[in-house]
Amino acid sequence: MKTVQAAMAIALVAAASASSGGQARAQPPKSARLYVFDCGRLEGGDVSRFRLKREEMATTDMSVACYLVVHPKGTLIWDAGAVPDADIKPGAGPMRYRIVLPNAAERFVTTERTLKSQLAAAGYAPSDITYLALSHYHYDHTANANEFAASTWLVRPIERDTMFADKPPDLLQPSTYSALRNSKTVTIKTDDYDVFGDGTVVLKATPGHTPGHQVLFVKLLKTGPVVVAGDLYHYPEERALNRIPTFDADERQTAASRAELDVFLKKTGAQLWIQHDFNANAKLKKAPAYYE
Ligand SMILES: [Zn+2]
Repeated sequence: MKTVQAAMAIALVAAASASSGGQARAQPPKSARLYVFDCGRLEGGDVSRFRLKREEMATTDMSVACYLVVHPKGTLIWDAGAVPDADIKPGAGPMRYRIVLPNAAERFVTTERTLKSQLAAAGYAPSDITYLALSHYHYDHTANANEFAASTWLVRPIERDTMFADKPPDLLQPSTYSALRNSKTVTIKTDDYDVFGDGTVVLKATPGHTPGHQVLFVKLLKTGPVVVAGDLYHYPEERALNRIPTFDADERQTAASRAELDVFLKKTGAQLWIQHDFNANAKLKKAPAYYE
């Protein structure tokens, strides 16, 4: 009798894994991992918007990066790209996509692989993701947010209110995050939000670029601590030359957030990863490889 039950249990497990596409579910790791996904190359356009001159810069191109944190207690997607997966033609090679924003402004992003396919290569489906957090609400960070509507959304109240305002500000693409309206949501009311309760993954308030902008701190065992900086900076030259974009919601707040984060970086010895820094991002290993 026992043997029959065991055999049936094995059959059920086999059926379950077949119904999930036959893909092996990744096991929770013993310590935090950080995956970097390539979500394209964004053309910088007119860099005077960043108070920079072309001749001051290594490149005007920006990387678009998305991240997955895998913690023993769950998973977190950080930022969701600039081009929705549904628009990307698989197997077509790198293609240049034109993004038209609600105010008719255009942006150009060259990309090749969907976020979902990169997530799958790392062993995860959107349904496996516990939490979604966005550094902020601009279009180049929200493209695939709807894919994670079943996850718990970690967001600052002022950011969420603006996203669902009757008339959202420029640089937002509401169609890409509309499904989050009904997501299970944690509205963060503290400057620091400790995602898994053990201090290894912390969302830190860094307002200015947008009112509810945040950065991601991850304490990695081998790599050491890392701050993934959202758009606190776009270009490394903003940091080196102390320039603040003209389109930040509150420039003085940006300056204060940058100064405060510098103190934190010094205290923790954390590396600063500027998400749009094309040359720095190119050097990072990409999923399915990961930092731990
Ligand atoms: Zn951005």
